[in-house]
Amino acid sequence: MSENLMDRRGFMKSSVAGVGSFFYLASNDRGQEEKKLGNRKVVYRALGKTGIKLPVVSWGTAYIGSTGMIRAGLDAGIVHLDTAQNYQRGRSEEIIGEAIKGRPRDSYFIATRIFTPKERISFLPTPQATEDAFLRSLDVSLKRLGLEHVDILYQGEIARREGALHEPILKAMEKAKKEGKTRFLGISTHKNEPEVIQASIDSHLYEVVLTSYNFRQKHYLEVREAIAKAAQAGLGVVAMKVMGGLTVDPLDFNSPAALKWVLQDPNVTTAVLGFCTFEEMETDLSVMGDLALKDSEKQWLHKQVFSSGFYCQQCGKCLHQCLKKIAIPDLMRAYMYAYAYRQPVLAKNLIASMALPQQICEDCSSCPVQCANRWRVSEKIRDIARLRDVPLDFLV
Ligand code: SF4
Ligand code: SF4
Repeated sequence: MSENLMDRRGFMKSSVAGVGSFFYLASNDRGQEEKKLGNRKVVYRALGKTGIKLPVVSWGTAYIGSTGMIRAGLDAGIVHLDTAQNYQRGRSEEIIGEAIKGRPRDSYFIATRIFTPKERISFLPTPQATEDAFLRSLDVSLKRLGLEHVDILYQGEIARREGALHEPILKAMEKAKKEGKTRFLGISTHKNEPEVIQASIDSHLYEVVLTSYNFRQKHYLEVREAIAKAAQAGLGVVAMKVMGGLTVDPLDFNSPAALKWVLQDPNVTTAVLGFCTFEEMETDLSVMGDLALKDSEKQWLHKQVFSSGFYCQQCGKCLHQCLKKIAIPDLMRAYMYAYAYRQPVLAKNLIASMALPQQICEDCSSCPVQCANRWRVSEKIRDIARLRDVPLDFLV
């Protein structure tokens, strides 16, 4: 992230006029289609050059409780389910597989993500990131989903250009498409998004990018610009982390405002949202009734510019300051899962996937880390690391 953009953010904070001019997009021309499903208006946008149109509200299934809920979502107008091989240790894919049984194949659109092994600090692929390993993982996902093919196969969690263009994985993805195991190829990123998006354009292979995008990102102008370039190049753009880590007080969170802020960008095809309850699903689906931000929603968004909430910027500024080279951004993501999303299992699974020292943030005489969010990261780390000792069965 450039200092220049950080400065612009600083300027915005000091001026409501500045917020107005940078924060919102003026155009409402999205070239979108609208249809009625019962009483509900469903808004569709094109997924790049794929020839597919998707509702602008989709479901990110990091944590789902039941097949019934998935079926209810599909009946309510959701088409696109976004999952990943590691969500709920594979259970998310299994639940989706059970829920879609017997439904026409063209009535739903499934994306899954395969994570390639990478270094926690440099984010570069490790020697274990091979063509064979990737293809074997894809077969496991297809089996869990009970599908011959997925609609989008993503290479997951990419933070560097080198990762996006890693030859063995590009070969694996090309092969998967050739063999009919996926219709489209994609890449997902929630760190260094502009660099990864540019690499995905340059690859001439990826057809969809799945990226973090929200009102709380300090570098959202850079992300917005990268998204515009991707759309211009014919890639579909799917937004995630749209809620920006929620707020300390969940009752004070305005999810329609956060969602509309992302969907005001005509280059975003759809946003994946992690509904945990029917009520949350209904609230977010109803946003399609009117995508324009109300004055009260704009006011709420303006207020949020002054707070970081639970959202780690994933800027990596802390990585080289930590005396023990701990992957702090991943731990802060786990912290957000536990406290903002109230998904301790998701948090524990993420922590378990990290090679952490037994003693963590306990034996440094002082902590030199200066976080971009001004968080005392060592306190948050000590807090979230306690999850390691809680048996999985005790977590809901
Ligand atoms: S206290 Fe924790 S975050 Fe700070 S330098 Fe030590 S290990 Fe790193
Ligand atoms: S913990 Fe702070 S410095 Fe580190 S990635 Fe997150 S926001 Fe940036």
